[in-house]
Parts: sequence; C-alpha cells; structure tokens
Amino acid sequence: MTADVLDSALVAQPRALRTLERLVEEGRAHALLLSGRAGSGPAAAAAVVAQRVLCPNGGRDGCDVCARVARRVHPDLHWVAPEGGSLAIDQVRRVVDVVTRMPFEADAQVVVIESADTLSSDNADAGNSLLKALEEPAGRVVFVLLAERPARVLPTIRSRAIEVAFHPIPDHLLVEALRHDGLDEATAAAATGLDLAGIARAARGDLQRARSIAAGDADAQRRGDMFTAMYAIATSANAPSFLAERVLSRASAASEVATRAATIEFEAMLEHMDAAAARSFKAKSNDDGMEKRTARRARKARVGELRACLDDLASWWRDVLAASVGAPDATTNSDRLAQTQLVADGPGGSRAVAALDAIDEAAARLQLNNADEPVTIGALAAELAALAGGRIRARRTLGAPARTPAGYDLSLG
Ligand SMILES: [Zn+2]
Repeated sequence: MTADVLDSALVAQPRALRTLERLVEEGRAHALLLSGRAGSGPAAAAAVVAQRVLCPNGGRDGCDVCARVARRVHPDLHWVAPEGGSLAIDQVRRVVDVVTRMPFEADAQVVVIESADTLSSDNADAGNSLLKALEEPAGRVVFVLLAERPARVLPTIRSRAIEVAFHPIPDHLLVEALRHDGLDEATAAAATGLDLAGIARAARGDLQRARSIAAGDADAQRRGDMFTAMYAIATSANAPSFLAERVLSRASAASEVATRAATIEFEAMLEHMDAAAARSFKAKSNDDGMEKRTARRARKARVGELRACLDDLASWWRDVLAASVGAPDATTNSDRLAQTQLVADGPGGSRAVAALDAIDEAAARLQLNNADEPVTIGALAAELAALAGGRIRARRTLGAPARTPAGYDLSLG
C-alpha cells in the first residue's frame, strides 16, 4: 500500500495506519477494534484491511476486487451497520451464520461491524453470538469492529480484539488530507467562502465532514440549510415550523436515498456473477431478510441525518455562546460570524447554554427506537426560537415545570 493510493483519512492518521499495517503483515489481524469518531478514518481503515485480505494480490494494486471492496459490493465482505440507535440481535446472528459458510469468491471473509459499542450488556444474546464467532470461526475470517466509544464495547469482546485508536484529526492534518484529495485554496474559497484552515475548523476533527463542506455537497448543504433556517427563526423572519420542516424533510430525503442505494448496490454485486451464482446469491439474500435490511439502512440514514442536523444547530449555538462571552476567535463557523454575533448581542446571547441543552436533550430522545420525530423536532424548533427571541428565560426539562412567562405555551399539543 503506497501513500498515493491511500484514502486521505489514513494520510491524516499515520500512526493508526502504521499499527494496522504491522498487524496485517504479522498475521495478527483476526479481530480488530478500530476506535474513534466515524469521520476520523476507522471506516476507511476497515476497507483497507478488507482489501488486503480479499484481494488476490494483497490489496496493493487497485484491481477490480479492490474497487468492489471500496464500494462495499464484494460478496465476501459483510458490512454490518446498526438500525437507528443500536445493532439488532438478528443482524449479529446473521454475521455468526455467515462465518460458518464458505467464502463466495475469495479464500477468506471479512466482517465489519459498525457501532460495536451498541452491543450492550442488556443485549447479552447478541454479544454472546458475536463472541462465539470471534472465538471459533469456521474458515478464515477477519473481524473489524468499529466503535466511537470503545469503553462501551462488551469487555469479553474487547479483550479478544486488538484495539487501534483513531483520534480526532488535528486541523493541520485535515488541511493536508484535503490537499491530498486535490483541493486547493482557490477552489475551496470559491466553493465555500472558507479557506482550507476554515474548512478544517468547521469540520471539528472529522475528515468526512471536511470533505463534504469542501465539496459543497450534502454536509455543506445541510450546514447552510440549518444555519439559514436557524437564523431565520431566531430573528422571527420565519415561524419555528420553518426550521422543523427543513430538518424533517432532510431526514425523509436521506432515507429515500439510502433505499435507492441499497438496491443499486445489490444489482452491482449481481453484475459480477454468472447466472447460477447470481440465482443462489439472490435466494440467500432473500433468506437473510434483504428487505428488512434495506428498511434498516433507510432508518439509519434518517436518524443519522436528524443527528447531523442537530450537530449543525449545536455548532451554530456554540458560536453564539462564544460571541456572547466576548470570544469571537473561538467561532467555528467564521462565515456566519455576523449572524451569530447579532443573536449573541440580543437576548439569545445569555440563553445559548439553554439552547445547547435543549438540542442535547432532543438528540437523546431521538436515539430511542419509539421516538416521535415530528414532535421532538417541532418542540425543539419552538424552544430555540423562543430562547433566541428572549421569550423564555430558561428551558423546560423533563420532570420539571416549565419556567416560561405566564401565558406562553411551548407545547405543540
Ligand atoms: Zn486488488
């Protein structure tokens, strides 16, 4: 693997990369635990490990197998991601089942499990199934577990895996990674109004986010969308429902895109098989609950988009907080400084902490599987608008009476 074919996420993580290289080389990569924020590179590293294992040439060559692994459409690569908040037991059982079968194409299989830290101890069955697979795989299987909070991975599982840490990427390495992507200052400035250092700062250690902001695609659009809507309701240019509708329609769109992507990936896998293999692969996928998995991916995309929207809103309010305490240098989103400063100078300035609390609480509520998204988002938007406009002093918390001026009703019924 040479630096020029590397994902920039790994260029920005030289230490983690060296460790992984050594483990694979020494044949000690049976179970790996890659810890750190999703955008700091663990998924890119998992893909590199999968290429090394599945490619007949050791993954150094950018061949067809490597390309399919990168797109996650190789039949011996099993990439498991949680539905909404956490991994479900039948997802884990399916992995266990998979490793008892022979590989489809390569001479080994790779299982990547995202959010392995959501296999909590109250889901002992799922944990035990995975543990069993880690201990006694039938053929050659490499497990790569991803976890943002490694301390929450079940101890029995953690103790059997070698941990490689992916720390938030420092701004200067984010800039280097963006340059490795081929981005230059002029292009960045034209597309985003930010220089590379500004993009790195707005990305908060997360290369995925930095790339999206730089490319002006989904993340940048969301960021612009959220900031604009938040400012509009903070200044009463629009009703709070304006922000709520923006958030909810983004979530629906994300879920539709995920459903389409699942179908396209499935077709792409079949493309590379002959008729008989395709038939058997289709039958197997139906047995494995293909439809259910597609629905899960859609829900995951939906929840992910909601969380990302709330992250952006929190980032905006942190800037209001910074401006209100006279520390505009600490601003994350320098392109919106004029707006956050204006809100900070008004009654919203002293209520930024309450706004951040409200966002946190909404995020926690959305993690629940039975979360009522429209009500949660609608109530949050109403609360943020009221805080920005100084119509309420503090926030309602669960179990505490609303500390709102008499006659002001925050509930949406
Ligand atoms: Zn290859």
